[in-house]
Amino acid sequence: MIMPFTQCPVCGGDLLEKEVEKLLRGGIHAAVVRVHAGVCLRCGERLYTQDTVRYFEQIRAKLKHHETMDFQLLGQFFAVESNVPDSALQPTAPDGAAVEA
Ligand SMILES: [Zn+2]
Repeated sequence: MIMPFTQCPVCGGDLLEKEVEKLLRGGIHAAVVRVHAGVCLRCGERLYTQDTVRYFEQIRAKLKHHETMDFQLLGQFFAVESNVPDSALQPTAPDGAAVEA
């Protein structure tokens, strides 16, 4: 694999080549594909080669057109309604300290 970068373009950290799982969606279907990526050791950004990005696009197009016969069926794919109250997103005072008005 020829890496497009040697350093992370986001934070400048060092990249390590790793095998990663990428989740791809196309229409109602989804697929997991294992590919090599450059992974930033500092911020976790993933970088893919042009060939890998093209490969993702081919898989997304097949998913969209229900051309899934070549893919291995793993299981069902669910959507889950969020049941977390909105208040979870409100800022809280650190360590229970009183917030000054
Ligand atoms: Zn980075």
